[in-house]
Amino acid sequence: MKLQNITVLGSTGSIGVSTLDVIRRHPDRYRAFALCAHSQVDKLFEQCCEFKPDFAVLRDATLAADLAARCSEAGLATQVRYGVQALVDLASADPVDAVMAAIVGAAGLEPTLAAANAGKRVMLANKEVLVMAGELFMQAVRSHGASLLPVDSEHNAIFQALPADFARGLGACGVRRILLTASGGPFRNTPLTDLCSVTPEDACAHPNWVMGRKISVDSATMMNKGLEVIEAHWLFAAAPEQIQVVVHPQSVMHSAVEYADGSVVAQLGNPDMRTPIAYAMAYPERIEAGVEALDLFRVGRLDFHAPDFERFPCLKLAYEALAEGGTASAILNAANEVAVAAFLDRALPFLGIPRLNEAVLAALPAGPEGTLDDVMAADAAARRLALQMVRDCSFT
Ligand code: NAD
Ligand code: MG
Repeated sequence: MKLQNITVLGSTGSIGVSTLDVIRRHPDRYRAFALCAHSQVDKLFEQCCEFKPDFAVLRDATLAADLAARCSEAGLATQVRYGVQALVDLASADPVDAVMAAIVGAAGLEPTLAAANAGKRVMLANKEVLVMAGELFMQAVRSHGASLLPVDSEHNAIFQALPADFARGLGACGVRRILLTASGGPFRNTPLTDLCSVTPEDACAHPNWVMGRKISVDSATMMNKGLEVIEAHWLFAAAPEQIQVVVHPQSVMHSAVEYADGSVVAQLGNPDMRTPIAYAMAYPERIEAGVEALDLFRVGRLDFHAPDFERFPCLKLAYEALAEGGTASAILNAANEVAVAAFLDRALPFLGIPRLNEAVLAALPAGPEGTLDDVMAADAAARRLALQMVRDCSFT
């Protein structure tokens, strides 16, 4: 098999590091073509020393000059670039076979869209891309012959449980519902009165997964599951009422598909992102991912509960945005990015996150998701309003 050139968008993050671990295990199949990060120069330099990519990308010229000096001192041939255009170029460059989209948030939209437009194999962890611009992105995938492999563990599980030709329509494949599992996060059973004093440290301590800070907070508010409902809608052309969220605290069953004949096909495994990453990289083959075998005797039992929309209003907001359509989910996503950043900066209480999201979604009318400019304009307007509301405390 030809060595696959991979661009990793977000190589220094949680998904990026797990991706590099899978690449490390299969040097005969994969090589890092470009490693892209925001500002962690030390970590990216270490990755360059080990993986010797052709290119490395950082946020700005100063950081890039620092990395370039270190690479040349170390005798590396890695060329260092910076900025959004570099991300776009290296996600769509001719030698690239596959792109791991693992930047967090809206910043990943343009390069991931560029990879789809260039017909690459797109391995999608960056769910915000589909939340912001699901229609545009799926259109780009279809019209440029890109292959889209979901990396989000639930969507990867659903992909594994669906027939290979699911794109002809869920109904035509006999699918009744998608069962999207959720751990319920760290506050599933916390008394509601205690939620007002939750700190960033509490919110980032996920019971089952080690992840970046933004998705950890999203898991604590269950906004993450809301974003995943929207993600599932676009990936599998599933109607909102076909997507059932199922709280499953052990995070062993990563999601399931329910069929018309009563069958439920699920994918199980230890909560380790290297499983869906390796699946996306090798599909349709299976490769070793360094993941411990699932010990069902140790797991012992699997529990399932209905979601609590009162405790987790963000989940309800996501269904509302999906029903509204157009740019509503881009507006919700942008508000949430501002809310989470403000919470992590201790400028917004934990319970302020759903309140701010709701206020921004209610205040801004959704327009059609016609072009990327429409999406970017909705995103910018929602960010402006959310920031202003945080400053003025005018959303409670
Ligand atoms: P993270 O915070 O650990 O890493 C984010 C990466 O993106 C870092 O490498 C950072 O340098 C880079 N980055 C951030 N802003 C950037 C910018 N403006 N330009 C260029 N690079 C930028 O996040 P993560 O947990 O790895 O999550 C990444 C994405 O994958 C998110 O969308 C998340 O929802 C999704 N995801 C993560 C997990 C998980 O287990 N961590 C699971 C499912 C989905
Ligand atoms: Mg997930």
